[in-house]
Amino acid sequence: MDIKIGKTTLTLILGDITLEETDAIVNAANSMLAGGGGVDGAIHRAGGPKILEECRKIGRCPTGSAVITTGGNLKAKNVIHTVGPIYRDGNSGEDGLLASAYRKSLEIAVKNGIRSISFPSISTGAYGYPIKEAAKIALKTVVEFIIDQGKPELVRFVLFSGRDLRVYEEALRDLMKIKGVI
Ligand code: ADP
Repeated sequence: MDIKIGKTTLTLILGDITLEETDAIVNAANSMLAGGGGVDGAIHRAGGPKILEECRKIGRCPTGSAVITTGGNLKAKNVIHTVGPIYRDGNSGEDGLLASAYRKSLEIAVKNGIRSISFPSISTGAYGYPIKEAAKIALKTVVEFIIDQGKPELVRFVLFSGRDLRVYEEALRDLMKIKGVI
């Protein structure tokens, strides 16, 4: 699914984010920037040890924040590492922290001249965020950023299962009805 928001294209696809050719890909990291399982492990495996070395120099990244490294052996020139919240009960500020993870990733991207960026579904794996709620927050935050900033030129959500893709597609259709701007 592809939509246009001004001059920006927003795309939802099924795929493996490590194969993306956008300027940057986003990693769902942990606050120690230590690598791990899920998409984090896949990115470090595909990108090689240089990315982890850079992460070690940076140190930590608080939940809801983002840092940038090079892309090592990946096609993407940069990896933006962001830390989504661990889902507890939905009343512990998870929504604000998840929105912040997307917003800070986009801010650091624009600051670094990145014109195209790919996101995974942050926090919806090991961190347990219910995907329907997470998709709503992810898309609303990204669409509002694009409307506000007119950048970047391309944002792709790379979903790892058909079900995840369908949830994001439905959330985007709902959001378009509400916003009526796209
Ligand atoms: P978190 O700890 O933030 O929940 P996970 O890596 O456990 O992060 O999961 C986040 C999402 O990333 C999940 O939907 C998972 O299926 C997905 N994922 C795992 N590997 C990849 C990959 N190679 N490309 C894209 N998405 C992936």
